[in-house]
Amino acid sequence: MMSNSAGIHHITAIAGEPRRHVDFYRRLLGLRLVKRTVNFDDPGTWHLYYGDEVGSPGTALTFFVWQGLPPGRHGTGEAQEIAFAIPETALDFWRERLIEQKIAHQASPARFGESVIALSDPDGHKLELVAAKAAGKLPGWSNGELPANHAIRGFHGITLELADVAATGRVLTQVFGFEPAGSEDGRHRFVAAGGPLGTVVDLRVTPGVARTAQGTGTIHHVAFRAGGDAEELEMRARALALGLRATEQVPRFYFRSVYFREPGGVLFEIATDDPGFTIDEPKEKLGSRVMLPPWFEQQRAEIEAALPPLE
Ligand code: ZN
Repeated sequence: MMSNSAGIHHITAIAGEPRRHVDFYRRLLGLRLVKRTVNFDDPGTWHLYYGDEVGSPGTALTFFVWQGLPPGRHGTGEAQEIAFAIPETALDFWRERLIEQKIAHQASPARFGESVIALSDPDGHKLELVAAKAAGKLPGWSNGELPANHAIRGFHGITLELADVAATGRVLTQVFGFEPAGSEDGRHRFVAAGGPLGTVVDLRVTPGVARTAQGTGTIHHVAFRAGGDAEELEMRARALALGLRATEQVPRFYFRSVYFREPGGVLFEIATDDPGFTIDEPKEKLGSRVMLPPWFEQQRAEIEAALPPLE
C-alpha cells in the first residue's frame, strides 16, 4: 500500500565555490536556505539545504560544498536535470529575470504540454523551470527580492540520463510506486501519485554519450519519500527483492535514510518525511546559524572556524 507521500524527497548535488553558489540559489532563484550544517561524513565542509519555507519533502535541494573538487562530467548513469515547478503565470517574470540577471537560458519546446526554461547554475548543474498547473495552487515563499506569487514552489521532477530505461523503470514502479506516463522525444516519463511536488522522473537515453564522472556541477543522489519507518523498510525490502544492495537504515537527524544504487548507476536514497528541518530550529530562524548534530556539538568552535564563508 503506497501512502500519498510519494515522489522525490530531496536531491543532493555538489557545489564548488560557496559564495557564488549561495548567491545563485538564495538570491537569484529565491529558494530559502533552510539549513546550514556540515557534511556528517566530512564535518569540515558545508552541507546546505534549500527549499520552501520549511524545506518540505519535494522541495529540499541540498548541496555538499566541496571547494577544490574538479568539475564533474555530464553523461550516462547520472541524475542530470533538476526541474523546478513555477506557476504558469510566472513564466514571463522568470524570462525577464534571467535576462536582467544575465543568466544564459533557453526556452525548450513544450514538454508533455508544459513550458520549460532551461538554464545552468554557476557550477554547471542543469536546471529547468517548468510551468506547472499545480504549482500555482501552492503558496510561494518570498526571499524579499522575488514576489511570492512567482516563486519556485519546489521540484517538478528530475531527468535521469541512462544507457537503458527498463531496469530503472522497474525500480521506480516496483520500489517507489511510480506509474509509467508515456514517452515523448526519447524521454520516458514516470509519475508518482500524491504530490503535487517532485512527482516526475523522466528517463532518457541519448546514444553515444560517455559515462558521467562525479565532481562539482553533478548530482550526488536522489532521495524518494517514505511516510515513515514502516514504509521505508517496505521499500527497502522491495529493492532487495529486485536484487539491489540496499544499506541498513542510517540516521540523518532530519530524516532516516536507506541508500542503494539503481541498475543504471544513479545513487538512490529512501528518506522519511519526519522529523524534518524544524526539529532543531524554529521555522522563522531556519538556516540562520550552523546546526550540528549532538555528536559534533563539542567540536563546534573548531568546525565553525574551518568552514569557508557563505556570504
Ligand atoms: Zn540524501
